[in-house]
Parts: sequence; C-alpha cells; structure tokens
Amino acid sequence: MNIQRRERARRPLAPQARCLCYDLAVRRKTSDGREVAIEFSPALDLVLGALERMRESGGRLPRASRDSLVQLRQRSPAAPARPITNKAALLAPIQARVAVCTKCPHLARSRTQTVFGVGNPDAELMFIGEAPGADEDARGEPFVGRAGQLLTKIIETMGFSRAEVYIANVLKCRPDMPRGSSGNRPPTPEEMQTCLPYLAEQIEIIRPRVLVALGATAVEGLLGTRSTMREMRGRWHSHQETPLMITYHPSYLLRNQAPAEKRKVWEDMLQVLERLERPISDKQRNYFRT
Ligand code: URA
Repeated sequence: MNIQRRERARRPLAPQARCLCYDLAVRRKTSDGREVAIEFSPALDLVLGALERMRESGGRLPRASRDSLVQLRQRSPAAPARPITNKAALLAPIQARVAVCTKCPHLARSRTQTVFGVGNPDAELMFIGEAPGADEDARGEPFVGRAGQLLTKIIETMGFSRAEVYIANVLKCRPDMPRGSSGNRPPTPEEMQTCLPYLAEQIEIIRPRVLVALGATAVEGLLGTRSTMREMRGRWHSHQETPLMITYHPSYLLRNQAPAEKRKVWEDMLQVLERLERPISDKQRNYFRT
C-alpha cells in the first residue's frame, strides 16, 4: 500500500457519516405534534463499524459504479416516520455502535466487551455509575460486582426490582490497568467526555422521571463539574431538565460501613421515592435511624 493510501486508511470515519447515524436515531416532532422516530436501520451501524475496521486495517475500500448508486437510490425511498412504540428498539442501534466503538483506542484494546446498560427501557428511575470494573467487563453488565450487589439491595429496599429500573455508566469500557495489576481505576475526564454522548442518547430515549448519579466521578462525567460529595449530595440538581439526585457510590459504603453514612444514602433515596410519588412505609422511613 502506498503512503498516501495508508494515511487515508488511518483517518477516522468522516464526521458526516457519524452524524447521519446519530440523526437517524433521534426523535422528531411531526407538524401535528406527534413524536416520531425516524426509521433507523441497525445495518447502518454494522456498515459504519465495518468501514472503520477496514480503514484501521488499511484494507481496500469498497467501490460502487455510478449506475449501481442510481439504482440503489431508486429502490430505497426515504423511510417513512413512524410513532415510537418501543424504546428497546431505539436503544439497540446505539448498543450496536457502542459494541464496535474505538474512540478510545487504549480502552477498545484492553476491554473484554463493552458494558452498555441494563434494565427497563421504560424505567422511571435510572442510576448512573462511573465505569465498569473487572466483574462488569467480564459479564457485560453494569454493577454486578460487590458494589453492584449493594446497589441492587438499595434498589430492592426502595421497592423496585433491578429489572424495573435502568442502570448505566458514563463510560462503557473498563478503564485499562497496567499489565499484571488487579483492581480498577477511575475513568479520566477525557475518557468520560468522549463516551458521554452514548449515555446522553440513552437518557434521551429512556426519559426517566428521576436520575440518580452515584459518586463524584459519575457527576463529573455527567455534568462536567467537580465538587465534593458533601456539597452535592442530598439535594436536587438537574440534567437536561430531568431531576437528578446525587448520592454516594455504593463502593464508598463498602469502604465506610458507618450506619450514619448508610443513612445519608437512604435519605437521598427517600427523596427519590417522594419525587416519584411512591408510597413509603414506616419501615422504609425508619431504616438506619439511630
Ligand atoms: N462501579 C461503577 O461505577 N459502575 C459499575 O458498573 C461497577 C462499579
């Protein structure tokens, strides 16, 4: 391959192609006020992924004659807009894009798989963590390790099942670790900024009534602001007009077992239940009361 072709092969896919893909997945309002989703073909994601891989490997790019392109255009009229009936179907193409994402090449190289999100696409409550750890990287599901088990307990004590809410992270890849070392590291602000558009799309489709951000790193990724948990937790913030409660990350509670700290998280969750107009029993009100 000559040098010019090799350089071209290394360039990332044209931004227009990415925009096209993104635009096709968003909602639109019709003139009579109905909300519709533009027909989105998951095949487009696969094609974009394949093109990126071809560029990276320096392979030959596909060519099409002028006549074939004219024929293709004639056979595929613009897809008609249709009402949104299924949020899962809208999330699927984003998940497909995330699965082949190489925006952070170091993370794409080190991950076992991406960790998109789990739960009810129609959830009224959505939890947001920072990034998958080793357990999540192995299972492909967020919050399945020790911190995840504690989060599940909190969710169930609130009166939800894990399947009723939606759980996702700002970062979809496990932050890489030096070879031979165990444990997890927090994601960097750059990694989170790069990955944030995927989470923004998830929130935009799920449209939960309440968001809960777990820990200062998740807040930094979501809002772009860094502050202390003492300052941020326990009161309402907002993300694109969705009420946002900030509370401690469950791994903080694993490190700090003091009932007073557990009570703080629980008080934050009681505020969430009130905001969602869920019934709260006396037992729930009095958890961790000393
Ligand atoms: N911590 C997180 O922030 N997310 C996970 O998925 C697991 C642990």
